Amino acid sequence: MIVLKGAEVSAKIREDVQKMLGELGGIIPKLAIVRVGENPDDLSYERGAVKKMENFGLRVQCYGFPADIEEETFLRELKSINEDGDIDGILVLRPLPSHISSKAVEEEIHPGKDLDGISPVNIAKVFSGDETGFAPCTAEAVVEVLKQNQISITGKRVVIVGRSMVVGKPLSMLMLKENATVTICHTRTQDLFRTCKGGEILVAAAGRAKMINHEYVGEKAVVIDVGINVDDRGKLCGDVDFEDIQDKAAMATPVPGGVGTVTTAVLAKHLVRAAGMRR
Ligand code: NAP
Repeated sequence: MIVLKGAEVSAKIREDVQKMLGELGGIIPKLAIVRVGENPDDLSYERGAVKKMENFGLRVQCYGFPADIEEETFLRELKSINEDGDIDGILVLRPLPSHISSKAVEEEIHPGKDLDGISPVNIAKVFSGDETGFAPCTAEAVVEVLKQNQISITGKRVVIVGRSMVVGKPLSMLMLKENATVTICHTRTQDLFRTCKGGEILVAAAGRAKMINHEYVGEKAVVIDVGINVDDRGKLCGDVDFEDIQDKAAMATPVPGGVGTVTTAVLAKHLVRAAGMRR
């Protein structure tokens, strides 16, 4: 089984970003990362994103707000980041605390700065196949992994496990745009084994540690693991039992070191594109 390493895809995206930066005439785009509270997962993601932006030669500013910030105050702060002429793109770390309405945040963020595709305008663009918007970075990262590894999507049976607005749904639209025949699975899917087995490309985005074993994988399938979980020994793992599918799949992404690495590279690419659109 060939291991599809995120670092190699990320390095190729970095080259694209450098070319795009060259066309910006010396402007160094700036990302705002907006965090509420001190959730360890958010802090870890933030550190990784800052490192990646710096590695790509981009600027980043982190805004951390207390977990009990009032919704009204938070939306006012977000508005001022939206209006800051020095900021080209915004990433709001989610989920937000329950007292802050996700809908209000999605509607507040300026579509041109909405690098993770959460605003209604960008969602509509993804669903209508309009490439002028921003798709959620994780969903786009899956497509990048396939394309940068010269894995053809056109005409393929793609099975996606998960139907969230962050991964499953937008990814299904991106795959459709690439002319795949898409099946979306979820907790009510019957005979999940058989459906997954029929996929020439199988994407796992369920958030269930190692649930996809060899029984779900078709012969010579390409398996993309979006999941980020912790196993019963406290170790980071994906939705796929990587060891168990070795003799079945043709190719697969590891966790860590797979899609997650590519997601922040896509974020960087979106940032430079946003800066190019705005300046
Ligand atoms: P989510 O909102 O919890 O959605 C999970 C989806 O999977 C739901 O649609 C759910 O179905 C489905 N599902 C759960 N268990 C299932 C099962 N046993 N059989 C079939 N379907 C099942 O999660 P998410 O935000 O999409 O994230 C999914 C995973 O990706 C998580 O591990 C998350 O940490 C990871 N993630 C990674 C990145 C990255 O950069 N690599 C970014 C975002 C998320 P129902 O709709 O029926 O409940």
